[in-house]
Parts: sequence; structure tokens; C-alpha cells
Amino acid sequence: MNKPDLPVTSNFIRNIIDDDLAANKNDGRVVTRFPPEPNGYLHIGHVKSICLNFGIAAQYGGTCNLRFDDTNPVKENDEYVQAIKADVEWLGFKWDELRHASDYFDELYDFAVQLIKKGKAYVDSSSAEEVRAMRGSLTEPGTPSPYHNRSIEENLDLFARMKAGEFEDGEHILRAKIDMASGNINMRDPTLYRIRKVHHVRTGNDWSIYPMYDYTHCLSDAMENITHSLCTLEFEDHRPLYDWVLDELETPAHPQQIEFARLALEYTILSKRKLIQLVEEKHVDGWDDPRMPTITGIRRRGYTPAALSDFCERIGITKNDAWIEMAVLETCIRDNLNEHSPRRMAVIDPIKVVITDLDDDYTETLSFANHPQNEAFGRRDVVFSKVVMIDRDDFSENPPPKYQRLVPGGEVRLRGSYVIKCNEVIKNEAGDVVELHCTHDAATLGKKPEGRKVKGVIHWVSMSAGVKAEVRVYDRLFNVVNPAAAESLEAALNPDSKTVYTQCYVESALADAEPESRFQFERLGYYVADRYDHNKAHPVFNRTVTLRDTWAK
Ligand code: ATP
Ligand code: MG
Repeated sequence: MNKPDLPVTSNFIRNIIDDDLAANKNDGRVVTRFPPEPNGYLHIGHVKSICLNFGIAAQYGGTCNLRFDDTNPVKENDEYVQAIKADVEWLGFKWDELRHASDYFDELYDFAVQLIKKGKAYVDSSSAEEVRAMRGSLTEPGTPSPYHNRSIEENLDLFARMKAGEFEDGEHILRAKIDMASGNINMRDPTLYRIRKVHHVRTGNDWSIYPMYDYTHCLSDAMENITHSLCTLEFEDHRPLYDWVLDELETPAHPQQIEFARLALEYTILSKRKLIQLVEEKHVDGWDDPRMPTITGIRRRGYTPAALSDFCERIGITKNDAWIEMAVLETCIRDNLNEHSPRRMAVIDPIKVVITDLDDDYTETLSFANHPQNEAFGRRDVVFSKVVMIDRDDFSENPPPKYQRLVPGGEVRLRGSYVIKCNEVIKNEAGDVVELHCTHDAATLGKKPEGRKVKGVIHWVSMSAGVKAEVRVYDRLFNVVNPAAAESLEAALNPDSKTVYTQCYVESALADAEPESRFQFERLGYYVADRYDHNKAHPVFNRTVTLRDTWAK
């Protein structure tokens, strides 16, 4: 089911599972889950967690649930839920069960009552500020709340009334009774429930109280019989609480929490909160802007699920936080597209070339291989004619040293076609080059020119046989390695991250391409037909990545 053909690199988590299986722990079952909070769109950091959780389930013949951690109704909504499901499916993974933490609200409440009855939880009526002040610091222990020794009866009564909606937000909280002097702040009587009189997408107005993440997560894992609860390193300090809750209560299972390093990717931001800011402040054109590190953005940019899985394999799973270079990700998509995408010619910023020694209605149909290394891609016809477009970059009046493209009086080969010579440069009143008049050497189709060397080869598109297209050239969204540490997001933005060309010429077959089909535009890079805006009447392509790393230091 889940990409069983991909290579599997061992890592410390797989080693733990191997040992567990060898010891017949969990009766040999492997059950994982991917637990996003539906408070934003998933990003490439989540891809790491998705590939890990679903990949492990697949590798060990286990199962993996998709669970929405929907305990914070203020920030969550159904748009995010739908988007997350679509993203996981697009990556090629199938969840075994779709769950929501809110499915367990009744059970979670009952468990809390049990904790109260055991004397392990109490209702605290201190203000949020007082609670904070009593918590202490990294160097000082906390101080017990004055409500710490409330009787079990009173706690049960107050908690029931919290649930019944008798109190307002902030009047009371339910806390675990653990150890206010603990060296681990998470163990200083953490909050289990708070009052929030807000509507919940799934449970409506049923609840006036909502459980906290740490309390919910371990119990949800346990109720789903998760065997290995994989999360990122920042939860390492929360593991004692995870285990405490499960030790205090009788649950169907006691999953093992294992932490791994988050993905940190250079030149990008991986935090839903900051990504929301980019969208809301309109620095990008929405969640699915191809410059966004969201799954939906990367998808629209032209990345493939296979390239993302490959990326996750290459970076591996460790316990050490480390920055991953953007080049690693870009290499994965280049390798993937190099192998899988047919070649086409496209001219992004055209100059008209008139081949003066051809008749006005001259056309010739040439046959091009669709892939230089793979004949299975077949061949296509490309029409050559009297007027062709070439890219502005491929002509220079004042060429730099070693320039091997077209210059006044010089020769160049039109790829797969003839050698042409530039005889005349036509400019408009502003002095811009608008047209080049060239002649062709009829003896050079598929043959070297006689008596001279012509090194340069440039791409081209026939004006009459090609079609006009829009090409959106995307580059990195940020100019700095760690944008999250910049003074402001705005200051870190790359002002040239998006350039739209509306007068491009592409081979006519590209107009018929399905949205999301991917091509190499020869000499330029890899491009994808835009998922939403591309159609036959108005072809639109996005640049996925250049052919080579242009950011290399
Ligand atoms: P964000 O800060 O972007 O909201 P989060 O960790 O709060 O991220 P969740 O929705 O809680 O996001 O994440 C779901 C799962 O994805 C969690 O198990 C989390 O650890 C994992 N995850 C989130 N970000 C990354 C990342 N950068 N690298 C690896 N895993 C991640
Ligand atoms: Mg979060």
C-alpha cells in the first residue's frame, strides 16, 4: 500500500521497533499515528512526520491513523481539516482510521473524574496570573496553590459544574496534582482542563471545558492502541507527564513516546503561525502559493510525492537538530524530474528572429526525442518556420567573454535545427532589440557546418506553430538562511521570488498538457502546468526548479 518499493534506511526508531518486535512487545503489533492540529496548512516539516509514521506502519505491516488534535476550537477550522486530508492523500498515504481527539471528549472527562477521585487532580480557582507566578522558574521551584488540598467532593462538584457551563472562562482550571517542586516545569501541577465557552467544529456547544494537549495526546494514543507515539524533540520534556497520566489511569495501552528532530530547512519557515502571517499580510498569494513551504504550495510548485519521500529518506531521522540545506530538497526534485519529465522548448522572454532566406510560408516538421536518455518517452514533431522566437538572454550585442550564444555577425545552432547567422539587429525607438534578421545554412540540419566551428546551441519556438503562454518564474521566498530569526519576516523576503512573464512562446503541444503535468523546458529548468490556472486557451506554467543550483555559495 504505502510505497513499499522505496528504499528503507535504518534509524534509531526502526531499531527500537526491531527490538520491540524481537521481544514480542505489543504482541508484535506496530501502530502509529499522525496527529496534526487543524490550525493551519501542513508544511514540509509535517511531511517528515507523515513519511515516518506512515512509512513505519507500511514497513512493519502495521497501521497508521490520521488523528486531528482538535482540542483548541478557537484556532481550528474545517478548511484546515479538509486540506490536511487532501495533503496526506496526495503524498500517497492511506490512513487506517480517521480519528479526532474530540471523539474522546466523554472518555477524557471520565478519566479526569477518576484522577480527581484518586486525589490526583484538583480544581484551582487562582487567576491565570497567580498560576503563572506560583509555577516558579527553571531555577526556582513552584509553590503549591492554595486550592491544592481541596476535598475530592468539592473538586468533583466544581468540575461537574465547570462542564455544565456554570462558570466563565478563566474562573477555574483542573490541574494534575504532581509535584510543584519538580525540576521539570511540565510536572508542576499542569493544567488538564480549561473553561472555553466557544463553539467546536465537531462537538458544537456541547462542551464548556476543553482538555489540554498534553493530557489529551497520551490518552488518545492509548485509546487507539498506538504502540509507538513518534513526536518531535520539544516534547521530550513532556514525556514524564505523558507517562504519568497513563500510569495513573487504567488505559487499554501504554504507548511509548519517542522523540526525533524536527525538520529545519534553510531559507524557509516551518511554523504554521508564521505561515499564517505570510498569508494574512499578503506577502504570498495564499496557502497554495508555489513559494510556500506548505504541502499544497510545494505541490503547485511542481514537486512530486516521490521527490518528497526521497527527501525524507535522504535527511533521515535522528535526535539531533540540524539545518538542512535547501539544495538537498532541490536536488531531490531535480533528480526525480530529470528522470520522469519529457523535454520541451519554451521561450520565456522572446525576441523575434526572422530567417530572411526562407519563403514567408516556409515550414518544416522536425522530429525531436522527448527524453535524451529514455526512448520510451517517444518522439514528437516540432515545426520550424521562417519566424522563430528565441530568449532575450540568448542574444547579446556586447557579449561577455566566452559567450557562446548569438551575437551580431555570429552563428549559433537552433537546437535540433539549422545553424543561423545574425546579419542585422532591429531596435525600437527606445533602443531595445526587437528583431534579429538572420540567414540559415541549409547544409547544417543534423550535420556540422563545413569549415568552421559553431559551439552555441539555443532553444527556440516557431512563432506561427507555437502558442503563447504565461510562465511564472519562482525563486526562494526568503533571502536569509533563517528567516524566523530575522528582524521581521518582511525584511527577510526575497523581492525577486516571483516574476511573471505573459508573452512566452511554447511548443503548441504544451497547451494540451493536463494541469500538474511536468516538463523540462530545455536549458531553462523544470516546469509544471499550473494546477488551477492552466488551460488550453491560456497555458500557464510554474517554474519548479532551475536545472542547476544557482544559489551555491
Ligand atoms: P507548527 O508549529 O507548524 O504548528 P506543530 O508541531 O504545532 O507545528 P502539529 O499540527 O502539532 O504541528 O504537528 C503534527 C505532527 O507533525 C506532530 O507530531 C509534530 O511533531 C510534527 N511536526 C511538525 N512540524 C514538524 C517539523 N518541522 N519536522 C518534523 N515533524 C514536524
Ligand atoms: Mg502546534
